[in-house]
Amino acid sequence: MSRSVSILGVTGSVGQSTIQVIEELRAQGRDIPVEAVTAATRVDLLAEACRRLKPKFAAIADPTLLAQAREALSGLDVAVGAGPSALEEAGARQADWVMSAIVGAAGLAPTMAAVRRGALVALANKECLVCAGPLFIDAAQAHGATLLPVDSEHNAIFQVLTHPDRVERLTLTASGGPFRTWTREQMASASPAQACAHPMWSMGRKISVDSATLMNKGLELIEASYLFGFPSESIDVIVHPQSTIHSLVHYVDGSVLAQMATPDMRIPIAYALAWPDRAAVSTARLELAKLAQLTFEAPDDARFPALKQARLALSRNAAATTALSAANEIAVEAFLAGRMGFLDICRTVEDALAHLEGAEAGLLAKSPSSFAEVEAVDQAARRAARLIAGNLAAA
Ligand code: NDP
Ligand code: MG
Repeated sequence: MSRSVSILGVTGSVGQSTIQVIEELRAQGRDIPVEAVTAATRVDLLAEACRRLKPKFAAIADPTLLAQAREALSGLDVAVGAGPSALEEAGARQADWVMSAIVGAAGLAPTMAAVRRGALVALANKECLVCAGPLFIDAAQAHGATLLPVDSEHNAIFQVLTHPDRVERLTLTASGGPFRTWTREQMASASPAQACAHPMWSMGRKISVDSATLMNKGLELIEASYLFGFPSESIDVIVHPQSTIHSLVHYVDGSVLAQMATPDMRIPIAYALAWPDRAAVSTARLELAKLAQLTFEAPDDARFPALKQARLALSRNAAATTALSAANEIAVEAFLAGRMGFLDICRTVEDALAHLEGAEAGLLAKSPSSFAEVEAVDQAARRAARLIAGNLAAA
């Protein structure tokens, strides 16, 4: 395999795991030139990534950091850009394979730049798919882009989806997050540090909080529905604390195919990078006797209302899923900044959607038919969530 690559969000948790996979495969003699990398604000980590990967282009999202980024990258043979146009340029440059690992809807425009030129797009960023939904999938099809799911559950399904038209149901597994056994009273006073202390995965702060509320699984339910074309009713969620089975596909003959592995993002990343082949990576191997048992339990909707909220939005339309994800981004930000409690996150999402329903009902009446409409719904949901978060902080 020789494949040129770009990494959107190279300084994040998925970005860093992608660097590790590339370095390991390069050490095996594979040719993996790097075209472009991006970061938001962490100039030092961006410079370190450039030293390791030797990309041709590096983009920093914050335009005020351009001079600092130039300084940090001086001496390396890399062009530097800043701001939204530079992020899009990173996606648009001619790499065979693009890792989409920016967090949040901010990843949509650069990822779409890769989609529009028909690239292989390794999709870790779930928010951009949840945000733009069917429009994103249609664009990938129209431009001949290949979406390679990297989110571990969707990667698992992708690996065992041998007969897509003979599927009865999908089951997404969830670790249950750090508060799986906590009471609602305990959750009410949970701190950002506690919410980010995930028992099985080490991840960025936003997805860690989403895992604690189970909104992550809600977003993944929507992601699975859009990616694989199944309605909400055909997708189950089961809590599986060992995070060994990453998801399951149930076929019409009663067979159930699952993908299993130790929880390590390098596995789905390597799968996407080598696809349709497989590559050797030195991840910890699954030792079933050591694991001894795999357990499963139903998610508790009373303590974790996010899953139901996501189902409701999904069964409604793609405007509701755009709004859900945007409102959640604002609520998580407010929680991480200490401006609201943990239980307020889901409350804010619910209230923001209800507010839109009342004040801007037209926006949620139908699925967006253009990216401009997606942007309008996204922005309206952010405004509503900020208003509610502001009221909570003032109360
Ligand atoms: P991190 O927070 O660790 O990293 C996010 C990356 O995006 C960083 O490179 C960050 O730059 C960049 N970034 C943040 N905000 C912006 C912005 N406004 N514009 C441009 N770039 C920005 O996140 P993760 O790596 O954990 O997650 C990335 C995505 O992958 C998320 O959508 C997440 O849901 C998904 N995912 C992650 C998994 C994981 O194991 N971590 C598993 C499955 C999916 P900087 O460092 O400079 O701030
Ligand atoms: Mg996942």
